[in-house]
Amino acid sequence: MKIAIVTNESPESTKVGEALKQKLIEEAFILTLTNPDVVVTVGGDGTLLNAFHSYVDQLESVRFVGVHTGHLGFYTDWRDYELDELVKSLKEDTSESVSYPLLEIELSYSDSDETKKCLALNEATVKNLDKTMVAEVYIKDELFEMFRGDGLSVSTPTGSTAYSKSLGGAVLHPRVNAIQLNEVASINNRVYRSLGSPMIIAQDEWIRLDLKRGDNYQLHIDHFVMNQENLSSVRLQLSEKRIQFASYRHTHFWRRVNDAFIGELRRKD
Ligand code: NAP
Repeated sequence: MKIAIVTNESPESTKVGEALKQKLIEEAFILTLTNPDVVVTVGGDGTLLNAFHSYVDQLESVRFVGVHTGHLGFYTDWRDYELDELVKSLKEDTSESVSYPLLEIELSYSDSDETKKCLALNEATVKNLDKTMVAEVYIKDELFEMFRGDGLSVSTPTGSTAYSKSLGGAVLHPRVNAIQLNEVASINNRVYRSLGSPMIIAQDEWIRLDLKRGDNYQLHIDHFVMNQENLSSVRLQLSEKRIQFASYRHTHFWRRVNDAFIGELRRKD
């Protein structure tokens, strides 16, 4: 089995990554960043996001495993003190995996007929850099509303615990094949009106944002931030591609949510 180890730059993750490397070499695994079967990330959810984009062209052949050097994350099933158990699981690997939905983003520009496509694991967010963003929001090619505000964000189910949650979005179980549209500071008054609530869009539907004001936008795709000149339209839909995680252990999703956001329950009498 060929394994790639991807760590973030913190001294702690580098140390854990080195320890894991030694253990894998002792067990005769092939360590390579080129065409691996399994990518093991050491760091946090952000490290996994980074690795996802590095191997985005190999999603059919690559499975991911996340080791967290802090608390348990949403893309990370292993803690840094569990390396021996992880190596044992890799040795006993049966190629089983669990997969999660991804977001497909298609970008159109006013000065070109060509479109650009990319994938997000957490979300895509569009913001106007200069003025209030004005966008016609289409759902499955039907005009739904005229949005005015700071921006609009569309997230995957696994991204629902990230930026989407800060925007007031619902937390979605990763088995729900849907995407979620969230407003960023919408203007709602007697003149301007948009729904003002998060919307869950079904698997066979898509969202199109036709940008109406200016041509200087900022596009956030997961941890990437890009200035986009002449951006005119953004189409967002659940991708046919999915990210695969090696399913060596199962962490109950709602326990993970509780652990990340609530913590120990204190019963009040
Ligand atoms: P970052 O500082 O690397 O990450 C921000 C935090 O989001 C980190 O604590 C990270 O966890 C956590 N995170 C990432 N994916 C998550 C997920 N699916 N569920 C729950 N928590 C998650 O920020 P960045 O590099 O700019 O952007 C990475 C992601 O962070 C973005 O995709 C966005 O969703 C999120 N973010 C959220 C806000 C916000 O809530 N206001 C602002 C900026 C970015 P780890 O510590 O485990 O890496």
